[in-house]
Amino acid sequence: ASTMQDDFQLTIPAILRHGSTVNGRSECVTWLGNRARHTSYAEIARNAERLAAALTALGIETGDRIGTFCWNNQEHLEAYYAVPGMGAVLHTLNIRLPVAQVAHVVNHAEDRMVIVDGTLLPLFAQAVPELTTVEAVIVVGAGDVSVLGAMRVLHYDELLAGQEPGFDWPSVDEKSPALICYTSGTTGDPKGVVYSHRSTFLHALSGQAATLTGATDADRILTFVPMFHVNAWGIPYGAFMSGATLHMPGPFMTPEPICAFVRAERSTLAAAVPTIWQGILQYGQQHDIDLSSLRMGTSGGAAAPRSLLETFENRYGLRIIQGWGMTETSPVGGMAHPPAGVELGTAEEMDWRTKSGRVTAGVEMRITDDSGAELPWDGRSVGEIEVRGPWITGAYHRDPAPGKFHDGWLRTGDIGTIDDRGYFQITDRSKDVIKSGGEWISSVELENLLAGSPDVLEAAVIGIPDQKWSERPLACVVLAESAVSDAATISAALAEYLVGKVARWQVPENWAFIGEVPKTTVGKYDKKVLRARYSAGELD
Ligand code: ADP
Repeated sequence: ASTMQDDFQLTIPAILRHGSTVNGRSECVTWLGNRARHTSYAEIARNAERLAAALTALGIETGDRIGTFCWNNQEHLEAYYAVPGMGAVLHTLNIRLPVAQVAHVVNHAEDRMVIVDGTLLPLFAQAVPELTTVEAVIVVGAGDVSVLGAMRVLHYDELLAGQEPGFDWPSVDEKSPALICYTSGTTGDPKGVVYSHRSTFLHALSGQAATLTGATDADRILTFVPMFHVNAWGIPYGAFMSGATLHMPGPFMTPEPICAFVRAERSTLAAAVPTIWQGILQYGQQHDIDLSSLRMGTSGGAAAPRSLLETFENRYGLRIIQGWGMTETSPVGGMAHPPAGVELGTAEEMDWRTKSGRVTAGVEMRITDDSGAELPWDGRSVGEIEVRGPWITGAYHRDPAPGKFHDGWLRTGDIGTIDDRGYFQITDRSKDVIKSGGEWISSVELENLLAGSPDVLEAAVIGIPDQKWSERPLACVVLAESAVSDAATISAALAEYLVGKVARWQVPENWAFIGEVPKTTVGKYDKKVLRARYSAGELD
């Protein structure tokens, strides 16, 4: 038998114990627009204890769900530790979901209380009439609570003031539920994924490796990814392990205040989706920004175009490393650090960095064909990516979805290749693939190439029906201001730009010039909307 203490439970209170003692001096820094509020992890832990005591006094029990409808800030972080720590389940709500979907997920998760930021009360209030399980709203900061009508209102500050620190965290089973997140519903109704203490601990621990972030207590991590989007990729838990300071932007989620925050507090790491990185580049074209404190950026959630990575490198000396993941995978499945022996700053290095990721230890990956048979790791064979591991979901919350699982593997719905060193490349989501004359065209590849043209600001490619080829790509392009030309000329020029970069038959002959690519609530291209617009005849 093993002589190890294998019964030691990998739990969120264990992360908190470490973070509040070993890393007790590290800080959560919440941006207030022109200055910051600094709170040590030791203090965060004391507030988490007070919050857990208050929720216990209110009758919250093991397994109960508590929602949050909050920005990235100190109080949200306290809830991240208090709620799972006491054995309840934290449900982070996406504040950008349509009201009906907010109500749907709150009801589906059966949240008993919801912690709502005061600035978001008018938004949350719209969902309140539809809520069937919520007994009280806990308001953080100031706000007009009259919009909540007859709903019971409690105030976060008063709840904490009414308690002493020193809550005795119960010993929880590492396999018990800690957190619940719903997918953002890019390709269908939101589905709930329930993370355990163990999966959260292991996912956060893995994030500290140099193959992912390599964070230390010298780092200050800007969490530009919302805490309601797959728990900000696990960063709030990882930071208590590494001792990295957390930079929380609060409601200031646009390029201007973010750049001011980075400049003032000297962030060293930053995590965001590609459209946000793109926004920073655009802002930087008109304004003087200082990103010199950043040692690395991470990008995930959608494919980052090569041109984006190159521009950050050339203009700001900022290395952005891409990663891949999804709500179902906690989310991190791998990041695309180049392999040993590749010289930094070369085109070859950039080739590696445009991969979606390299499978990280703890996650197992394979690709399968239409019949479910495994395909080789040759970097060429294209199939559906399947994953398994201790932080990969094996089911959905109250939603049997047998089609999403395959012999104990999660079917990701992502199509791609994998090579013999474990680098994988997502070419499409299965719902977005374009099949033309029996051959695949990668919409992601076309989008990323088009993004590299100086005439293009953004490009999204969808498949449209075609009599001869069954489907052909339609490129929906937002032109850069400098691109002055009529539609026929510019589409010919863009088609010409693609020649030689992809096979000639993959070059789109259908072009639509639009003002903006519609985005999902977490900033991804919303191709569902584009397809609907096409069907309505709006993209001809
Ligand atoms: P939703 O499923 O609602 O979009 P998620 O954030 O869980 O919300 O999305 C996960 C999906 O995002 C993945 O399945 C994949 O299609 C896409 N994705 C994530 N990272 C990357 C990446 N680096 N490159 C390409 N696609 C990515």
